[in-house]
Parts: sequence; C-alpha cells; structure tokens
Amino acid sequence: MEKIRNFCIIAHIDHGKSTLADRFLEITNTVEKRDMKEQLLDSMDLERERGITIKLQPVRMEWKGHILNLIDTPGHVDFQYEVSRSLAACEGAILVVDATQGIEAQTLSNLYLALEYDLEIIPVINKIDLPAADPERVALEIENAIGIPREEIIAISAKDGTNVDQVLDRIIAKIPNPLQGGLRKNLAIQNDEECKALIFDSVYDSYKGVLAYVRVVSGALKKGQKVSFVKTRIDTELLEVGYFIPKHKPCAEIKAGEVGYIVTGLKSTREARVGDTVYAGKNFSNATELPGYKTVVPMVFSGIFCTEGSDYPLLRDALEKLSLSDSAISFEPENSVALGNGFRCGFLGLLHLDIVQERLEREYDLDLIVTAPSVRYQITLAKGEVIEISAPSELPDPSYIEQIAEPIAKVELITPKDYIGGLMDLLQKKRGVFKNITYLNPERAVIHTEVPMANLVTDFYDRLKTLSSGYASMNYELLEMRADDLVKMDILVAGEVVLPLAQIMHRNEVQSAGNAIVKKLKEVIPRANFPIALQAAIGSRIVARETIAAYRKDVTAGLYGGDVTRKNKLLKKQKAGKKRMKAMGKLDMPQEAFLAILQREE
Ligand code: GDP
Ligand code: MG
Repeated sequence: MEKIRNFCIIAHIDHGKSTLADRFLEITNTVEKRDMKEQLLDSMDLERERGITIKLQPVRMEWKGHILNLIDTPGHVDFQYEVSRSLAACEGAILVVDATQGIEAQTLSNLYLALEYDLEIIPVINKIDLPAADPERVALEIENAIGIPREEIIAISAKDGTNVDQVLDRIIAKIPNPLQGGLRKNLAIQNDEECKALIFDSVYDSYKGVLAYVRVVSGALKKGQKVSFVKTRIDTELLEVGYFIPKHKPCAEIKAGEVGYIVTGLKSTREARVGDTVYAGKNFSNATELPGYKTVVPMVFSGIFCTEGSDYPLLRDALEKLSLSDSAISFEPENSVALGNGFRCGFLGLLHLDIVQERLEREYDLDLIVTAPSVRYQITLAKGEVIEISAPSELPDPSYIEQIAEPIAKVELITPKDYIGGLMDLLQKKRGVFKNITYLNPERAVIHTEVPMANLVTDFYDRLKTLSSGYASMNYELLEMRADDLVKMDILVAGEVVLPLAQIMHRNEVQSAGNAIVKKLKEVIPRANFPIALQAAIGSRIVARETIAAYRKDVTAGLYGGDVTRKNKLLKKQKAGKKRMKAMGKLDMPQEAFLAILQREE
C-alpha cells in the first residue's frame, strides 16, 4: 500500500491533459509507442473527432517500484459531479496549465474541487516548447492562485516529453499513499471486516454488461463475491475484478487503497451509479454509504422528434439503449400537435445534449427535430402547491400562479481586462447580477456573477467567445431557484399557437425577444401560396408581428428564405444535407424554426 499513488490530471480544455497522459504511458512503458492511439483513445469516435474526451479509462502504470493509478476526469463543466467523484477516489492531482494561456475558468473550478477534497496539488506548466509560451507569467498566476512557490512548479512539454519524468518523480515524492490519505475525511480506511468501494465511473460494455470503476476504501473485492450497491439497493455477484493496464486485466482481488474495475452482471449503468458505494460484508441490511453521493439531475431540456413520424419507435429504442450507458439522460414521451410523438429529454448541459443528439443521428440513423433548450421552472400555485415543469408549454394559466422561480447559476468569467466592458454589457443583457471582480494578474480578471440558467443555455457562450475574440472562458454551477417576474411567450404561426416554440422569460425581455423571434422565423419558414402571419403573444396580447408574403407562381427561387448564419453549434449539424422539415397543416416548418429562440439577433 505504501507504494501506491492514486492521482488525476486536471486542466482547462486543450491545455494538454490527454497529451500528458499519453507521455506518462509511454515513459513508463505501459503502452508501446506504436500502440498508443488505439490503446489510449479507445473511446467513442465522436469524442476523438471533437477533441473532447468525456471519459477515458483509468490506467495503472509502474514507475520506479511504485504503482501509479491515473484516474481520468471529464474535462467539461456539464460533468462536474463526475469530476468530483473521480477526485474523491484520488490522493493527488496534477494541475496542467498551458504556458501560452494561463489559468482559465475550468482550471479554477477544478482546482477548487480538488482543494475541497484535500488533494495534494502538483502544478505543471505545459507547452513550453511553443514560442508564445510565457512560463514566468503563468507561474506567477499559479503562485497567486494556490500559494505554491514559483520555483516548485515544473515546466514541461507534454508534446516532446521535456521534464515529464520529473512529474512522475514528483507524484511519488509528494502525493500521499492511500494510508496517509486516511487523513482525508472521505476515504479514511475503515475496518477490514467489511468491504466498501466508491464507484467513480461506470460504463456499459456490450459483452460484459456494466463495468464499474472503483476505489476500494476498506477490505477487498473478490471475484465471485456477493456485493450490494448501497444506494440503488441492488445485490449481485462480482463476475470479474481487475486492473486496467490500460486493457482490462483480471486478478483475484482488489484491496483497500487500490483502484480497479468490477464486472457486475448488471444491465444498466443506472443500477451502478457514479458515487454509489459497493458493499460486501456481514451486515448487508445495515450497510452505510460513503459520503458525497448525489443523484445527478438534468439541467437542460429539449423536445426530440423525428422528421418521419413513423420513426418514433426507433427513437424510443435508441433512447432506451443510450440510457443503458448514459445514466444522466432522462426522457419521457411528449406529444405535440406541431411535431407529433417524441420525447422530452433532460441533459446535464448543452454539450451533453449535443452529444446525445449526434449519437442518435449517427449511431441510430435518425433524422431529428430538436426544440430549443429550456430549463426547469418551479411554480407555486395560488393554492400553495409547488410544481416543476421542464417545458414552457406546460406552464399553467397565469391566474392559477402565485410565483415562478427559475434556476440561477453562479458564473465565473475569466478574461483579459480589455474585454471586461463588453462582457459587462453582455451580462446586463442576460440579466446577470454582478458580484465582484478579482485579478489573476494585472492583465487578467475573474468576473464573478449570477446569471439565470435559461439565459446561459441560449447563445451566451457564443457571444462570450465573439466579444472576447475567443480569449474569455467561463464556468458555472447551479446556485439556487429564484423567483422573478417571469411570463410565457407564445408564438403563433398562421394564427395557430406552436407549443414547442413557447418560451418562459422575464417580462422586461418580452418586447425585444418577441421582435427578434418573429423576424428570425420570417427568415427561415418557407413561403407558401398564402401569406403567413407570425406573432409573439403574452396571453392574448400580441407583442410582435411579421408577415411572410405569399409567393407568386414565377418566384420559386429562394424558397427557404435568406441563408441562415450558422454560428450556432446546434445548427451546424443540419448542413449535412437535406433541410429538416416538419409538415404542420399546410405549412412546412424547418428545424431552424424550432431553434429561432437561439438564433434571434437582438
Ligand atoms: P486536453 O483537452 O487537455 O486533453 O488537451 P490535449 O492533450 O488534447 O491537447 C490539446 C492540444 O495541445 C493538442 O493539439 C496537443 O497536440 C497540443 N499540446 C499538448 N501538449 C503540448 C505541448 O507540450 N506542446 C505543444 N506544442 N502542443 C501541445
Ligand atoms: Mg483530452
């Protein structure tokens, strides 16, 4: 046990986490150089193409007589809870900061989490081979942020391997072994009579079923052992236990302090949830869980429908299959006059939505219409009852409503100081409440603010990037539900309310949003041989209006209106080929129309 080190790498996206992990595997001879790609990036094509890794397999390496277990953390804010479970399974973290960029929003949020779990932090400055690298400045930022003296920060190039061996040496020297790690509140090693292990990741394997990655806290997990999942109250027998090097390698048992995998025989990752405790021992009925479990709840909701109504059963099967491996998706049937049968789906965030949509389209060959993302609202009815809705169209009539509360996010924006003014304007437009500004160094500021989640899931991130020429980064987390003067805006097309286009917003936003949405719809809805009225309304009061003129027989060109600016990610996918259309009465509604709320220019 003295020779074990459990650690993870934390970094802002693109700062070099995966590249450093690759170098570790190479230098420790865990993986032959020629096998690198296949072995390590053994994850979904989708992740590789986008250069984002949702999850990597954990990996066990040997270095100078020690066993180093590298546990991966997802590099995106949507997966914050999973990051926290991975951190809880470690004693230390390597903090990678890009020498050409410095500390970014994700660096900070990961760092705060790591400190919360009392992890030993080893900061490294990466990409020193680049001409634009400024290791001195970045070292100063790190010193200011965590108080580790500049001289102790290792400057490396994960690309060419410079000083990477020093990082491995530092892991052995600095990160506590699991016994010393017993100081930490979460994973103190308890008695050996009972076995307890923390699940920090669980995946679905089509051959083996559900495979859970665990950190054993006390006792040992053995093949054939009877275990119980404390939270889900599911009992099963372990079909296999082992390590990952980085392929799965079965062994007889995994002991306290170690990390490994267990093959559970379960059919869905919902039964072996991240954060749950695996228990084996005499007293199954009294098994208690390890601290920190949380059932992740979706934050962002969209309606998903098929362009071909007859594909509905395929969509249902696809969602059921996907949810075997992705326990964070929620879905329930939704029926809409405009769009037919589909599902109201919940996601952890926009990236998660994006990934699921793309997997449905690619792996299951479905043509989908996806409605603009929305958030969850808490409605207090006049009678005192509190209900939650995740689709704006479900909002009860205002006369029954006492108050509407919306989710508020705590947001941190990190930006070069020249862009502060522009970002303040953006925050004001998005109903942000400014808290304060701190500085990482004289040039770079952290803006602390609170923004309604509903306004973060529209085009906030794109605007942030545009306004800051790509230099600002952001991080957010759910803070609380907060009541405000919120109303539902309906959109009427040719006199009919189109429910999936309804949006809940602040009363002050109604006028400009209404104007912008009908204008956007005018661009994307094809002309018909009759004029089409487009209206935005609050209750029976029309707040904005446009009309699409009827086309004359000789004007057939430009049927789809002006070309749409495709700066939004959700739209990019559509360019693959055919225009997605949904027949609505005598009208054709293109996918773009359902995203008008995102696309509007105010
Ligand atoms: P991650 O998002 O943190 O996993 O970052 P990656 O490891 O995928 O690296 C992001 C990009 O930076 C890739 O194009 C890497 O090739 C590049 N990169 C990573 N480390 C270095 C380095 O030390 N030097 C240089 N020049 N490029 C690097
Ligand atoms: Mg990566």
